[in-house]
Amino acid sequence: MKKVLYPLALVSVSVLLSCKQTKKTSNEVAMNTVEVTQNKQSKEELIDSILVRKHLYTLASDEMEGRKPGTEGMEKATQYIENEYKRIGLKTFDTLTTYRQNFEYKGIKMSNIIGLLEGKSKKDEFVIVSAHHDHLGIKKDGEGDRIFNGANDDASGVTGVLSLAEYYAKKGNNERSILFVCFTAEEMGLIGSEYFGKGIDASKFVAGINLELIGKQPKTGPKTAWLTGFDKSDFGKIIQKNLEGSGYKLFPDPYPKFQLFLRSDNASLARLGVPSHTFSTTPIDIDADYHKVTDEAETLNMTVLTETVKAVARGTQSIIEGKDTPTRVNME
Ligand SMILES: [Zn+2]
Repeated sequence: MKKVLYPLALVSVSVLLSCKQTKKTSNEVAMNTVEVTQNKQSKEELIDSILVRKHLYTLASDEMEGRKPGTEGMEKATQYIENEYKRIGLKTFDTLTTYRQNFEYKGIKMSNIIGLLEGKSKKDEFVIVSAHHDHLGIKKDGEGDRIFNGANDDASGVTGVLSLAEYYAKKGNNERSILFVCFTAEEMGLIGSEYFGKGIDASKFVAGINLELIGKQPKTGPKTAWLTGFDKSDFGKIIQKNLEGSGYKLFPDPYPKFQLFLRSDNASLARLGVPSHTFSTTPIDIDADYHKVTDEAETLNMTVLTETVKAVARGTQSIIEGKDTPTRVNME
């Protein structure tokens, strides 16, 4: 495989503004305005670029051995995600006693990793935030680097799931329940999400937010992302409305011929009628690292990743708060 050189990823440094006012000014009104603005700023900072970086670099490290189901590296990745769920304070889902939803496929023991943030008033209405934590493992032969790190695919999405879990948990205004799910064996054919779909009452699932390949800048420019299956429900329009004034724009998937709506875990829920879509940013038509050993953390743009996670948080707010309910998907 040809080694491709990339410009250094932009490093985003989080600047925390102090909320403290040291001196009283004569203009009380002006000061109050400043305080309100700074409070808003600190809420945005609930998605911390340093932590985003840590999640990504840990999950995409060589130690995780390309996160193939059934391997030691996959077990390490699973434990990292579990520990984060625990630190954030997520609960277990339904009848599960741990975060793992265990099952076997073709003789391989594997697990989806599910954490619950219970809704304040609409406990029985679920929004799912997902990505797949598995990838392709290690190449059997060849010289040099043989580890498929899967930084963009899909450590970037799992980074988004963990960051959003922390964001919503700290914000505490989720009227609906939110399920954070890292699906296994996506690369083997959406196996984990299909298994998950079989065990749920889909009518209780009001929306699916799936994240895939969110670490590279799309051809539409900075502060943009695209959504698969845009016309399958009004989910995308709700997100666009919520993003108005933020400077971030969401577009319909520019690669309809690739049928991406059917190629990621959102499809397993969409087939059950759930308005479940995938956010992505990567120019997949020209991306040289897709399913290559060169899909390394260093090739990602950390600003794109962090800004996209923030945009998803802002864009999905009215759904989380129970104010908007997207229309159901009809796959026929
Ligand atoms: Zn993927």
